[in-house]
Amino acid sequence: MSQKRLVIAIDGPAASGKSTTAKLVAERLGFVHVDTGAMYRAITLKVLQKKIGPQDTERIARLVESTQIALRRESGTMRVFLDGKDVTDEIRSIEVTRAVSAVSSLRAVRQAMVREQRRMGEAVSVVAEGRDIGTVVFPSADLKFFVIAGIEARAKRRQGDLLHQGVETNLTEIERAIEERDALDSSREESPLRKAADAIELDTSDMTIEAQVDFVVEHVRRMQKKHEAS
Ligand code: C5P
Repeated sequence: MSQKRLVIAIDGPAASGKSTTAKLVAERLGFVHVDTGAMYRAITLKVLQKKIGPQDTERIARLVESTQIALRRESGTMRVFLDGKDVTDEIRSIEVTRAVSAVSSLRAVRQAMVREQRRMGEAVSVVAEGRDIGTVVFPSADLKFFVIAGIEARAKRRQGDLLHQGVETNLTEIERAIEERDALDSSREESPLRKAADAIELDTSDMTIEAQVDFVVEHVRRMQKKHEAS
């Protein structure tokens, strides 16, 4: 019997553990992982490459319409393509991270990205993660999670990621940068970061990655069983 197509929404602030969780949950369930943050990062990279200021909304709106962003699985890993070029590593740079919240707050950018994200969730089961998945992109998602973690745990994770890229940073500076990005993402007019009323909260501060993944997968399996029984 073929299983019902499912949309799983995972939202949360920066470095809360949602990306790692979403990626592994998607792998375990055989769903497509839609990393919407990667899409906002890709358009931000293009804005920076073109040296357009974040306040130049008209130029950015035109740029978005002529830009192609694709998420594709290649040899088991998800790659991000900007106009056909693989930018998976470039979009994680400090420069992109610093500029992404400003670019993501623009209506034209959000409209184009949301349109594309909804298209990706049309045909297959997806685990979509970001800031507005459960509230705006897929308000009728089958399951919604809101992932949080204490600032210290989040800063340490980000420090680890950066070290992996060969960048040494100070923990206080990282905490400040994360809090700044959260403040911008939560206070913007367009689709602010917000927990959907029907989202299940998951605090990953003291959880292993395996436990986070198990938590989400168990909820999904329970839902699949319920669908099978009905
Ligand atoms: O998840 P990640 O940290 O890669 O997201 C980068 C940025 O993209 C966020 O800080 C936010 O400004 C933006 N974003 C968004 N809406 C989403 C996903 C990400 O505005 N659904």
